[in-house]
Amino acid sequence: MKRVLFRRFSSSSSSFALNAKRVFSQSSAVATADENAAAAVLAKMPRFDYTPPPYDGPRSEEILRKRSEFLSPSMFYFYKKPLNIVDGKKQYLFDEDGRRYLDAFGGIATVCCGHCHPDVIEAIINQTKRLQHSTVLYLNNAIADFAEALASKMPRDLKVVFFTNSGTEANELAMMIARLYTGCHDIISLRNAYHGNAAGTMGATAQCNWKFNVVQSGVHHALNPDQYRGVFGSDGEKYAKDVEEIIDFGTSGRVAGFISEAIQGVGGILELAPGYLPSVYKTIKKAGGLCIADEVQAGFARIGSHFWGFEAHGVVPDIVTMAKGIGNGIPIGAVVTTPEIAHVLTRRCYFNTFGGNPVCTAAGHAVLKVLEKEKLQENALVVGSYLKDQLMALQEKHEIIGDVRGRGLMLGVELVTDRLKKTPAKTEILHVMESMKDMGVLVGKGGFYGNVFRITPPLCFTKEDSGMAFDARNPFLITPILFFIVSYII
Ligand code: PMP
Repeated sequence: MKRVLFRRFSSSSSSFALNAKRVFSQSSAVATADENAAAAVLAKMPRFDYTPPPYDGPRSEEILRKRSEFLSPSMFYFYKKPLNIVDGKKQYLFDEDGRRYLDAFGGIATVCCGHCHPDVIEAIINQTKRLQHSTVLYLNNAIADFAEALASKMPRDLKVVFFTNSGTEANELAMMIARLYTGCHDIISLRNAYHGNAAGTMGATAQCNWKFNVVQSGVHHALNPDQYRGVFGSDGEKYAKDVEEIIDFGTSGRVAGFISEAIQGVGGILELAPGYLPSVYKTIKKAGGLCIADEVQAGFARIGSHFWGFEAHGVVPDIVTMAKGIGNGIPIGAVVTTPEIAHVLTRRCYFNTFGGNPVCTAAGHAVLKVLEKEKLQENALVVGSYLKDQLMALQEKHEIIGDVRGRGLMLGVELVTDRLKKTPAKTEILHVMESMKDMGVLVGKGGFYGNVFRITPPLCFTKEDSGMAFDARNPFLITPILFFIVSYII
């Protein structure tokens, strides 16, 4: 039995097996165990007084067929049979049959106020009815009001905003501004980082899974201050030396800047080692560069202890980039910097047709108000800490959990088949993820080896939700499935 299962589980050769073609199939023994667990869990979903309207649209098979025929083959999906999600409310999603799922991924750390928040919807509808688009060539209060509100969340004189449509665009712009301001081309980013997939940002992104072999000039990738796998453990200052060496041996001695996330999201919820950013920021300043904080995932109250990820490291960047949570799902991104640095863009014409669109900025402004009104940062801290404790309790019980990390509602659970060697449990994670979906819980997945659960739910996630999904003491939840894998496979 052990060997049969292992062979089946090993049949997926891909380290990035999100695509259905690459997802291994379950054995019937596993399916039976899952069905039992699923039945038990379904009854235990937290009470929720909302029933979505009946769905009579196309079924998943038809959508998948159209998608295969008419959409780019580069688009991948989660689960052997991808979910057709048709409704969302708060921290829950509903499929075509009206089945409710607990959303512990939040549309990739994007839905911060909860799905379809009435205040955000109202702001979008009101603005859309009045004026949907005009461009910044005319005045409109939505963009100005949101910029002012956003600036009020920033330290020091970080108060000039340029709106974009995505995180990639925001980082492209930030890197260009750094290059223009300093007159240097070299940028340092971290190995394992994800900053986007356009020409400049693909250069700053540092995982081969996400890089094509096209020209990506002028980016150096420093040693990642990875507290789990990194050579210096949690000693941030030691990793920081690598940045000094890159500047000394890989550049003219002057650089345009340094870009990093405070907690790497795509990279597997890796919080940079303490002491790293203050030290690197000093080094970069000495070399004439600007420090860019990519807050696309960690920003907007997600980490609970602070509104922005960089604040947890006690640094103040020169440029901050954001997207995802800024709009709760509306496509919008932003670059925030100082008036002096922002001025470089006046050297030429710089324009973005949709950037600062009234509907998107009205939505963004509503998001900020909801975060405050509903004290979602505090909730992220309280519920996130509770959830992290639960995950750590699971780790104590199960060898397969190599690491539990992150802050607030940006948590990671790394699965390994050998705790000492830290061998990534690449296929096992797919099985657990599939089983969790069957049980009604949607989590994300990432990390260079694809073996890290990413738990980034809407910030209205509750203790009850977290107990329902991850309570180590409840034998009907994730525990038995992990236990099954641990006892039969490893
Ligand atoms: N930066 C980070 C940290 C991200 O996680 C992402 C997206 N995963 C991006 C930038 C790029 O954002 P977008 O997909 O909106 O272009």
